[in-house]
Amino acid sequence: MPDSRLPISLNFEHTYHDQLPGFFAALEPHAVAQPRLLQFNTGLANELGINCEQLTPEIIEDLFSGNTLPLDANPIAQAYAGHQFGNFVPQLGDGRALLIGELIDQNGSRRDVALKGSGITPFSRGGDGKAAVGPVLREYLIGEAMHSLGIPTTRALAAVATGEPVMREQKLPGAVLTRVASSHIRVGTFQFFAARQLTESVRKLADYVIQRHYPDASESPNCYLSLLQLVADQQAKLIAQWMLVGFIHGVMNTDNMAIAGETIDYGPCAFMEAYNPETVFSSIDHGGRYAFGNQPSIAVWNLARFAETLLPLINEADSDAAIADATAVLDTFIPTFQNHWYLGALKKLGLAGNKDTDQVGEQQRALIDDWFQWLAKGKVDYTLGWRYLADAATGNPCKLQSISTAPNHSASDDTANENLESWLARWRKQLGNTDPETVATTLRGVNPIHIPRNHLVEEALAAASDDGNLQPFETLLAAVKQPFDDSPHAPRYSSPATAEYTANYRTFCGT
Ligand code: AMP
Ligand code: MG
Repeated sequence: MPDSRLPISLNFEHTYHDQLPGFFAALEPHAVAQPRLLQFNTGLANELGINCEQLTPEIIEDLFSGNTLPLDANPIAQAYAGHQFGNFVPQLGDGRALLIGELIDQNGSRRDVALKGSGITPFSRGGDGKAAVGPVLREYLIGEAMHSLGIPTTRALAAVATGEPVMREQKLPGAVLTRVASSHIRVGTFQFFAARQLTESVRKLADYVIQRHYPDASESPNCYLSLLQLVADQQAKLIAQWMLVGFIHGVMNTDNMAIAGETIDYGPCAFMEAYNPETVFSSIDHGGRYAFGNQPSIAVWNLARFAETLLPLINEADSDAAIADATAVLDTFIPTFQNHWYLGALKKLGLAGNKDTDQVGEQQRALIDDWFQWLAKGKVDYTLGWRYLADAATGNPCKLQSISTAPNHSASDDTANENLESWLARWRKQLGNTDPETVATTLRGVNPIHIPRNHLVEEALAAASDDGNLQPFETLLAAVKQPFDDSPHAPRYSSPATAEYTANYRTFCGT
């Protein structure tokens, strides 16, 4: 239990708590021994309208470790279920997290503020309710990197060390993360109530989600079918965005898919280095279920589980009709994903789709497909491959050539003898007579130079966790917060790991 409430208010609102009784357990966070601030996100605090002047470092440490809460917090652990690696678990829920309130940000959007690692809850299922410094800082770092890359994501407001050990395979220093999300409602939240055949609860949740995230659905003749479509569209866009920067979520269980369309739960995630759609880093993903190239089909699988929860709402009287309608929506996912993927790739090539239809033409598709083939065949670093196009645009393809193991192999299966040079010639032709320097500047604004390189992330987290040294973390954080800007950061922040390091790299859930 926290000692007391602090006599300050953060202007919290509590719509989830107030409108959805029975969807959570109310409880206080656990006090911690010796809170010490690791990182505070002042930019995000400002965005949330938090008055930082009232927050001394001591207050921040107390508030964001859960040692004490503001007067207007209303902590709850949310109930959810989920399919984990394809197996349904009827009760998961916030086993180590508490939603403490909602804030309306500077853009007028409602955002959840939640503590993660704040102690056991009725959903802990034998877990200790805690989090360790390494995984907390990983979530902080990757969330900021994704946000800076323009990808919808939950973000960290604070990371506070607890001064208490956490028992994992070895003893680790503990920490609490404060996570900000559009909401924490997951596919698994719907599944929790659907699995118990609580159709009216599913309806209440769906109505809440429509009001909070997808108000357009309420205009539609079948608002629940429309909700399914809007959620699917949002996910299709998100996953294309992930894949265009080489992001592999690693554990796309249905409880880790946020209905609002944000990336959530940075556990065994990683960034691909050499382009290969089969890339998997997670130590527990033996079958490659969540491999880079499987992400769109897994998203459809998850959305099918979401659709199942909505069937009685989509058509109460005729379940066959409900299934047919939902299937028709799910069938739009892959084409929608592909459209985002090709349009996104086109943008990364400095080109645009058809002005009227916003579609990618056949010639453009072929150019993109051949580019991916060239990346794959040459085991080209995905990030630098795109980045060095800017140099190629200004007549210097050497950098690109230098990062391919096979620069002059045939890039296209149906065009014999095509090599990088002839692909570049086709590309330049499509660029037309736009000034090359202008093209290069555009390309450097869409193709990042700084992603959180796996080896640098591990190095930074190890320094913080093992030695209490935050300097590598902060330097890396600064680099990934400027993903498109190469000038102020040392070259090591844009360099891949060795092929050997990447071949042996494994990620863990870190719970
Ligand atoms: P995750 O793998 O982080 O997506 O979590 C899956 C489920 O396990 C969720 O219900 C979490 O709340 C729960 N969980 C993960 N770690 C812990 C922990 N250390 N203590 C209690 N519950 C946990
Ligand atoms: Mg999770």
